[in-house]
Amino acid sequence: MSYMPAKSPRPGNGNPKRTMTAQLRALGNTVAIMATVFMVLLVAFVWMVTAINKKSAKNSDDTTAATTATSATIPEDSTSDTVATDTTAPETTPEPTQNEGTHASYPEGTKLIALTFDDGPCEFTPQVLDTLEKHGIPATFFLLGQNVTGTDPQLLQRMLDLKCEIGNHTWSHTVLSKVDENKAYEELQKCDQALMDKIGQKATVIRPPQGAGLANPGLLKYALENREFCINWNDISCPADWQKPAMGDAHYTAQHVIDNASSYDCVLLHDSHKSTVESLDEMIQGLKDKGYVFVTVTQLLEATSDKIGIEEARAKGWTDAVEAYPGGPVYGVRYEYSSNKYFFGKKSY
Ligand SMILES: [Zn+2]
Repeated sequence: MSYMPAKSPRPGNGNPKRTMTAQLRALGNTVAIMATVFMVLLVAFVWMVTAINKKSAKNSDDTTAATTATSATIPEDSTSDTVATDTTAPETTPEPTQNEGTHASYPEGTKLIALTFDDGPCEFTPQVLDTLEKHGIPATFFLLGQNVTGTDPQLLQRMLDLKCEIGNHTWSHTVLSKVDENKAYEELQKCDQALMDKIGQKATVIRPPQGAGLANPGLLKYALENREFCINWNDISCPADWQKPAMGDAHYTAQHVIDNASSYDCVLLHDSHKSTVESLDEMIQGLKDKGYVFVTVTQLLEATSDKIGIEEARAKGWTDAVEAYPGGPVYGVRYEYSSNKYFFGKKSY
């Protein structure tokens, strides 16, 4: 059986009702065309404004970075620095410049270091933030989800305001080498959920308690799914502040880090230890005097990751770093078993 489509009523056939309908339809078409043209113009306008804003923001960043890099070579007593008129202002970390739009880079020879604080937030965390603010530097806090739940969101917000990075240290400090895949995944997920509830964002990096369980499939799965990469720390510069002689001795703690630090180090500290918190002013000043620039973990990894790529890491036999994320978004960076140089990862977008 053939199908005959119904004929559309033709406009202008003399029927006033039909004529009005046709006119309305024509008017509707005109409005639709005008609306489309308007939308196209609006989109083009928004695109142009966004492009202009981006360009001016980039220029501003470049200027800031260039100014900072230049002022670093000017002696402190120089009067030619026309930018820093307020000599009491805390020193700020040079902003990294963008290298071909991929990852941050610093001027050649810049000594970078990342201070990290595990197990917080806790009663001494505000004091840590005071010291960081005084020195105008960022750090990275690997937080426990169960501590986050009882924390004033303003404290966490203050971390972000000071350009610190927030890391995931599991919900309850569970050692991930001792639990199965599901438990490891849940521990990391619950910590991030606690952060989401407080500040509306997840962690950006993971440090498993005791640096253990890096090969746990639950950790790897979670890290990949959430694009959080894992990092441990350098043993050499680590003062082991959870035991004597560092624990209870702020001066020892500070000097251990100052004497043993090397560029690209990731220093493990705990804001849960009073003596560590009390060591920070001396530690930071000592590192500054040796020319260190303080960065977050992500900034550190972004700055170092192109120094050793995945193939070189594989050639060196850094199998943990490479095999943990075969083909994934994270790859090995400067990990050496012999010196316990730190672990893996670079985000790849
Ligand atoms: Zn811990």
